Amino acid sequence: MTTLKLAISESQIQECVGRLAQLIQADYQDQPLLVVGVLHGSFVFLSDLIRHMHLPIQVDFIRLSSYDESAKSSGAVRLHHGVRTSVVGKNVLVVEDIVDTGLTAQFLRGYFEDQGAATVRICSLLDKPVRRRTSVTVDYVGFEVPDQFLVGYGLDYNQQYRELRALYSLEARTDGS
Ligand code: 5GP
Repeated sequence: MTTLKLAISESQIQECVGRLAQLIQADYQDQPLLVVGVLHGSFVFLSDLIRHMHLPIQVDFIRLSSYDESAKSSGAVRLHHGVRTSVVGKNVLVVEDIVDTGLTAQFLRGYFEDQGAATVRICSLLDKPVRRRTSVTVDYVGFEVPDQFLVGYGLDYNQQYRELRALYSLEARTDGS
């Protein structure tokens, strides 16, 4: 059996999202921005983030191959569903829920650069630096977290818990119930 333990509260998340939006806004200074969410984990974060930003933005989503340990360990990240919006000459902001090994972020940075984006930056709500296997730069980070499995605020475990307003660590119960 598993249990949920509060890791980051709703108010901490909301304060952090506002701070990230201000940083992003200050960096882009009214320039148009294409915000690309990585499905599915980032959709809640992205929708809060864009509502704090006062910039001319477009939004699109991208889907990569499902989380697969064997694929990750080989370093292979596959594109499942690309963006429909042209990225040529645009400032692209990739929005991730969590950067873990960094393979997804590294792949997406290269992908959008190859597609002709003018600039590519990465914004992730969560960062697990101890798990990193690449030297990819994450430009905007909400919270650094230890090596624990988190759910809520868009992040799932077997498609559950995405609707929770805070973030929780998923832990094995020790009382046998
Ligand atoms: P990376 O390519 O950085 O290893 O993978 C990032 C992806 O792994 C995230 O977008 C997410 O789908 C998944 N992931 C990594 N750590 C966690 C976690 O603690 N909780 C959840 N729900 N997904 C995670």
